Amino acid sequence: MNTILSAGGLNTYYGRSHILFDMGLEVRQGETVCLVGRNGAGKTTTFRSLMNLSPPKSGRVEFLGRNCSGLPPYRMARLGLGFVPEDRRILGPFTVRENLEMGVIAERKGRWNLKTVLECFPTLARMLERMGGSLSGGEQQMLTIGRALMGNPEVLILDEPTEGLSPVIVGELKELVLRLKREGTTILLSEQNIRFALAVSDRVAVMDKGRSVYTGTVEAFRSDEAVQSRYLAV
Ligand code: ATP
Repeated sequence: MNTILSAGGLNTYYGRSHILFDMGLEVRQGETVCLVGRNGAGKTTTFRSLMNLSPPKSGRVEFLGRNCSGLPPYRMARLGLGFVPEDRRILGPFTVRENLEMGVIAERKGRWNLKTVLECFPTLARMLERMGGSLSGGEQQMLTIGRALMGNPEVLILDEPTEGLSPVIVGELKELVLRLKREGTTILLSEQNIRFALAVSDRVAVMDKGRSVYTGTVEAFRSDEAVQSRYLAV
């Protein structure tokens, strides 16, 4: 499989605080990679660094075979990096339809449009004219994923998608991610919910204190109890 997204040597700071230390990762076409690690390990900062929302002081980001270091976030989005942030960023005073339409990126054509996204999210189809702010947490999560799909991303980045969701909704989200994966979508996500991570991913990357400390297949990670107990609260 070809590498579609890779990063290496990323050093990112918030003010004077050094957060990422030579962080790197690799995502291949069609696979699902999950970043795991304790709270504050640096998963969100890694995604923000890939998008250049938190510009790294050094390091490289390559996407679709080109050097993207330093490209502004809107250019990364236009190239096809679709980011679903942890805090969801639904626009409350806008309808579900408007929220979805905001995800359109004129330069990016593909199989996702309002019709195909609504086929994938029948719940959203029933509440198109409702205000985004009136949706439940689970509905908002589906809406932010739907909005990212509207931009026909080459890689979908989901930052802790299950956070704060009920077990039923987590189950629905799992089916959704597995479906996107079956259809060939390349996915990079972060998770605290290890069961969810292992159920949807092909490979796992573990972060600790701003560094990449382990990468392996889901099978290898599952059988490596030392890594699990050292870096995760399991
Ligand atoms: P979580 O699961 O809690 O989101 P994470 O692995 O995504 O954790 P980050 O959110 O990337 O971790 O945070 C990494 C470190 O950076 C933490 O120590 C956090 O306190 C710090 N940090 C995050 N955002 C800021 C900010 N805006 N200003 C200063 N420090 C920050």
